[in-house]
Amino acid sequence: MDTAQHNTLERWLTGPRVGSLPSPSAMPAPKLSFEFFPPKNEKLEQDLWACIRRLEPLAPRFVSVTYGAGGSTRARTHDTVARLVRETGLTPAAHLTCVGATRDEVDEVARGYQEAGVRHIVALRGDPPAGAERYEPHPGGYAQAEDLVRGLRRIGDFDISVGAYPETHPAALSADADLDYLKRKIDAGANRAITQYFFDTDVYLRFLDRCHAAGITVPIVPGILPVLNFAQVKRFSAMCGASVPAWLENLFEGLEQDEPTRRLVAATVAAEQVRILQANGVDEFHIYTMNRPDLTYAIAHILGARPQLVAA
Ligand code: FAD
Repeated sequence: MDTAQHNTLERWLTGPRVGSLPSPSAMPAPKLSFEFFPPKNEKLEQDLWACIRRLEPLAPRFVSVTYGAGGSTRARTHDTVARLVRETGLTPAAHLTCVGATRDEVDEVARGYQEAGVRHIVALRGDPPAGAERYEPHPGGYAQAEDLVRGLRRIGDFDISVGAYPETHPAALSADADLDYLKRKIDAGANRAITQYFFDTDVYLRFLDRCHAAGITVPIVPGILPVLNFAQVKRFSAMCGASVPAWLENLFEGLEQDEPTRRLVAATVAAEQVRILQANGVDEFHIYTMNRPDLTYAIAHILGARPQLVAA
């Protein structure tokens, strides 16, 4: 039996029985946060805001807005986050990356957020620009997310989230080196990590064990991706190092032309993932909404989240 199997068996023997989940009403609603991406045009902007308005009453802990590859959405991310501050009762978090900008430029963006009343930054290194084989730090830029976290700490009292990879970042030297760099980001001042999505709950639980063994005590919030388009998710997963289990592929087989059933399956899979993790003591989740509100709303509802009054 390898270590992973042993840990799983030990969890099964000593922890809650994941085969007999309590009824949803017996579990407290988990703490949720939602991720959006900034819109490319007016139509997508309307879609995004319809999505935000639908999810707003669920009173998520925060909502984050991504930063396009290579900083390509700098203005759009800023505008979306600033509008969230002005027009909603939500707590926005702005993603920020190190790619393609000097430290001064990145600092200026961070100060812009500070002035707009944004207190939460998701600090990331970013991926190499399209066509580039490997990541090269910008001359005069922040090299890694760890450096960005340190830079942000110098600028202001931000709430800082960083990325974490339960299945190891694809460019990491090793799983241990990756974990060590995660610890360094936390030690540099990050308040929590949000994970890359994963589908097998054991993948996350084993990673959590390793984080705890490494002395990481901040929340490691699992990223949950509802799978609306399986083919697309499979392609993307190959690039970002997330494994796609055969059971997931089987579940979506034959549903290529049947979106209504795909949506039901996607909501069920994601809600079950969350409920198994809840039964194992995890109480915070970050949902990648893909700017589509219905699936996220359904999942949140299954988990016990109900509309609340939100002070605009
Ligand atoms: P880092 O923590 O800097 O690590 C990157 C790689 O370098 C890893 O392999 C690590 O092991 C290694 N490493 C770290 N520190 C060092 C060091 N000092 N020396 C040598 N190697 C080191 N991308 C976007 O462009 N925009 C987004 O909005 C965005 N949002 C994301 C949100 C989440 C929750 C996650 C998990 C990822 C997101 N990404 C986003 C993707 C992210 O930018 C890429 O995965 C990127 O390749 C790594 O970013 P990081 O911040 O995790 O990097």
